[in-house]
Amino acid sequence: MVDEGRVLRIFENLASIYSPSYNERAIADHITSYLSALSYLTFEDETGSSIKGNTGNIHVTIPGTADGPCILFAAHIDTVEPAQGVKVFVEDGLIKSKGDTILGADDKAGVTAMLELATVLAATTFAHGPVHLVFTVAEEVGLKGAKYLDLDDKNLDYAYVLDANGKVGLINVKAPYQDSFEVEFIGKAAHAGIAPETGINAIVAASKAISMMKLGRIDSETTANVGTIEGGIAGNIVAERAKVFAESRSISIEKLQQQSRHMVECFNAAAEETGASVNIVQYRPYEGYSLTEDEPIVARAISAMKSIGIEPVITHTGGGSDTNVFNAKGVVAVNLSMGAENVHGKDEFLPVAELVKLSELLLALIRSP
Ligand SMILES: [Zn+2]
Repeated sequence: MVDEGRVLRIFENLASIYSPSYNERAIADHITSYLSALSYLTFEDETGSSIKGNTGNIHVTIPGTADGPCILFAAHIDTVEPAQGVKVFVEDGLIKSKGDTILGADDKAGVTAMLELATVLAATTFAHGPVHLVFTVAEEVGLKGAKYLDLDDKNLDYAYVLDANGKVGLINVKAPYQDSFEVEFIGKAAHAGIAPETGINAIVAASKAISMMKLGRIDSETTANVGTIEGGIAGNIVAERAKVFAESRSISIEKLQQQSRHMVECFNAAAEETGASVNIVQYRPYEGYSLTEDEPIVARAISAMKSIGIEPVITHTGGGSDTNVFNAKGVVAVNLSMGAENVHGKDEFLPVAELVKLSELLLALIRSP
């Protein structure tokens, strides 16, 4: 069964491997050789070349030993920076990183639990349906690995993504749709002291648009943000160009469309008011999803958690993950918390007890009734 010492060693080994997005070769090789040592066949897909990275998604199929749903577990193997030379230590039951890096428990906690599951299943006879493990690449740079996954022939009933922060027990049943905007205002350059009236200031146009815009938290399901603004050349030149990067998110597609329309109207109105022209590129990096509590995938998570003493909490997230992509592909998926806190920060930490619980949860999720 799940072994705390082994789980900790698996995590420490993973954490010490540098694995930024598009450069997951070393960690993928480590995972592949770990699984080969357990006599599992792994398969790496062609995603690496499709996304101009050096690694594809890693797939493993563990055949079922009994009737039961076909379940996929997924975790991503890339991390954000700074992540070079992560040194792990354990203090008061918390796994942390020394020095100036993230810990990388996002999402190596999920990867660890999947490797521990494979370890336990290789050593025991345990009644379960077919299990697929997928280790995705380039999640942190736009869910790219998941987008290139081919899951059509797998006959999946459900997918549990192990990539939400917080104590084990959170079941994220909803996540937002997102629209992104790359907007450029083009005005007319002029000498700021001699002939400002002949110019059209693109920065002024952009600021007018932003000042008209509803931003921040719009309602409980909807948010909007202007993330960067850049433009102009010098203090004595009326700025000819200004670029704005913005986004809107909502769990409700209608509310998303409404907020996105509003933002486009503000960009256009400001251009018209100032005489600048505006070029708006709007795209959807990922779709949202929204499941109800009585979906079988949620009911299974709730009963698995209760069976091992974890209190389930149904919740939703404001972030996108591979879960969004699975649902968009027609594979019903929820995002489960994997135990880490302060992810993407240097103060990221992971309680050892949560890592053990997560591993136990995977076993409980596949256990045939
Ligand atoms: Zn993550």
